[in-house]
Parts: sequence; structure tokens; C-alpha cells
Amino acid sequence: MKDIRIGHGYDVHALAEGLPLVIGGVKIDHTKGCIAHSDGDVAIHAICDALLGALALGDIGKLFPDTSAEFKGIDSKILLRRVCEVVAEKGYEISNVDCTIAMQRPKLRPHIDTMRATLAAVMNLDVERVSVKATTTEHLGFEGREEGVSVHSVVLLYK
Ligand code: MG
Repeated sequence: MKDIRIGHGYDVHALAEGLPLVIGGVKIDHTKGCIAHSDGDVAIHAICDALLGALALGDIGKLFPDTSAEFKGIDSKILLRRVCEVVAEKGYEISNVDCTIAMQRPKLRPHIDTMRATLAAVMNLDVERVSVKATTTEHLGFEGREEGVSVHSVVLLYK
């Protein structure tokens, strides 16, 4: 039997006026963006944590400390590529990735396929193995009040 690993990741960033908004590796036109040490790509951070979680290697903050100047403003795609290298170094392959973005506004639907293609390219996966979904929270909670964005992700690894 194959060695199969499942991993879950969850990330939240607060939104503030006038910051760039980058989700799933895609820059999105909006009046608000994520407050972060890196570029604030909340979807990529959740995916990184899912990959690391599958291998019980801790979390993205352990690998890339937000106290380090090296990672200030960093493109999160670089972090994801590095995490994928760690997965490969451990001898695992990624079967599939799924994530759900909870954000009230703007509508993410028009960006979903670009996010999938972007993430698939970074992770060196067929796009069919990368799922990105978006939901509002019906104006409930911090996402609904447009104070922040949250993303859940799950991944399956095998070797
Ligand atoms: Mg984060």
C-alpha cells in the first residue's frame, strides 16, 4: 500500500485600505489588501500549511519566520515552491490540492481559473489536481464584515 498523507491548512489575514490584494498568486483589483509581513497571499499560506501539516513538519511560520528581513514583502509563490521542494525531498508527490477562500468582496469567480493555473505552475501539477473555491460568508463574521479573509486548504500526498 502506498504511504498516503493528508494535510490541512488554515490562514487568516486582516484587510486594510490601500494595500495590494494577492490571492492564489493572482493580483486582484480591490480597494483593500491583506496586512502581512509577506505579500499576504492567504491562499498560498494555507496551502503551504496543508503541505507541511501532511508531513508533520510544523507550519509556514516555522520555515519562514515573519521576524526575518529575508521574507519581508516576499512573493508567496517563492514560499510555496520551497515547500514543494521540501515535499519532494521527503520523497512524496502531491496528489491534489483543494482550498476554499472565504471573502465577502470582491467576487473571486472571475479569478479562480487564473489562480488554479498559477498555483499548478508553481507546484508543477496538472491544473486538474488544483481546486480553488470561493465563498462569501453571507455578511457574517470578520470575512462578512470585510475585515479579513480566511482560507482553508487540504492536500493529499503519496509515495
Ligand atoms: Mg499568512
